[in-house]
Amino acid sequence: MKVLFATSEAHPLAKTGGLADVSGALPAALQEIGVDARVLMPAYPSALEKAQNLSRVFRIRLPEHGEASLLRGMFPGNGVPVYLIEHKSYFEREGLYQDETGRDWPDNAMRFGLLSQFAAWLAGPKSPLDFRPDVLHCNDWQIGLAPAYLHFEGAKPTPTVFTVHNLAYQGIFPPEDLKKLGLPPESFSIDGMEYYGKLSFLKAGLYYANHLTTVSPTYAGEIQTEAFGMGMQGLLATRGKDLTGILNGIDMREWNPAADPHLAAPYSADNLAGKALNKRALQDELGLQPDAKAPLLGMVSRLTQQKGSDVVIEAMPQLLKLGAQFAVLGSGEAKLENAWRDLAAAHPGRIALKIGYNEGLGHRIEAGADIFLMPSRFEPCGLNQMYSQRYGTPPVVHKVGGLADTVSHASLASLASGMATGFVLDRLDAASLVDAVNRAMVLYRHKHAWQKLMRNGMTRDFGWTKSAHQYLGVYKKICRA
Ligand code: ADP
Repeated sequence: MKVLFATSEAHPLAKTGGLADVSGALPAALQEIGVDARVLMPAYPSALEKAQNLSRVFRIRLPEHGEASLLRGMFPGNGVPVYLIEHKSYFEREGLYQDETGRDWPDNAMRFGLLSQFAAWLAGPKSPLDFRPDVLHCNDWQIGLAPAYLHFEGAKPTPTVFTVHNLAYQGIFPPEDLKKLGLPPESFSIDGMEYYGKLSFLKAGLYYANHLTTVSPTYAGEIQTEAFGMGMQGLLATRGKDLTGILNGIDMREWNPAADPHLAAPYSADNLAGKALNKRALQDELGLQPDAKAPLLGMVSRLTQQKGSDVVIEAMPQLLKLGAQFAVLGSGEAKLENAWRDLAAAHPGRIALKIGYNEGLGHRIEAGADIFLMPSRFEPCGLNQMYSQRYGTPPVVHKVGGLADTVSHASLASLASGMATGFVLDRLDAASLVDAVNRAMVLYRHKHAWQKLMRNGMTRDFGWTKSAHQYLGVYKKICRA
């Protein structure tokens, strides 16, 4: 089985969120079960810097986009082959999707149109490469046009899988862009990529791909309903029999508290002593009071409505009364960033805030915190709740999407049976959050029970192997069809 895995970001070459973690790890997991999986993505400056053994495969001039070239190289660490699309004016800039003020780049339709076009071309019969994929695996709206390009190319197109990592990002552009992107007028239809008078890259993927997947079984069901479907629920329900929920894994090597170069001290389920050293080091690093007993609550997330940090802000007066400390890392909406800044300024030593993106600090918060907060409004899969379980930092989550699928609520029964790994809110509001954090803190004071909870999460298998086999099952199915 040969698979071209097209994505707009992949760790460690370029990352803004979970899509990069998946794109960095899933192709490697597929390789391990015998699939020849290769990644296609843009040659951002960071990707050019970090990819290994780069060489140019060809250069081309395209009427719509001007000059572009294809480089071939490898991911550092796992050696997965990667093709990078070099295009000076599209990809040689900092900021994958937005400028430094958070505004989408005005030429995103053309940038990701080019990526989609390359994906379709390199997966199809006219590809100049000697690598002929059996399946094109497209990820999120940035690759949404690829199944459309293949569809309109005619003949017998290479089968496509389109994975939704987050339905909230839909790649919506003015209809005039259709012509610039070289797509036929008939594609702009309700049975196609038209979406309320605009052009949606996401809808193109959902409509034209042979099979759809999303990143957790619960989210696969949720997105067919009005509450979570973001306007696509009708189409998704129609395609329900072609839609599979496959849970993301995590990179168990990269996220391993026993061998994590970012941490102050290693620790494991068998030897938890280092956890306290990481807490102390984190308190020092962030200027929190060096109090070993104060429960330290961690958050690492994009600061957007999705992640529910506004609910944490609303609950903060009561959470502080419970004696908690906070370590918060994130960036996103200005309103939320400012609200967090105000809170941190008002409570020095109790609330530490770092605005920005910091991979190492993300690891140190997972390790140094006692409890992880992730009360997302919706969550396709979510990775941090899995990282936190692996790092012995039981998460408090809202029962949606992948959070519902990966965290087992600490009830009396699940604590007794050894299944419990965290705390799950049925409803998302400030009162429920305070209640759940309070319950977590009560258990936290019972050292033996708490360590059992930590170990339950730390010894769970969140690896990619099972999911890689499920993806292979999907690839085989669409090839047969
Ligand atoms: P999403 O993809 O919706 O942002 P996920 O939980 O699936 O959420 O994945 C987020 C990934 O990005 C995780 O690896 C998380 O640690 C990382 N991350 C998010 N924000 C930051 C940040 N400010 N600094 C470091 N890592 C971050």
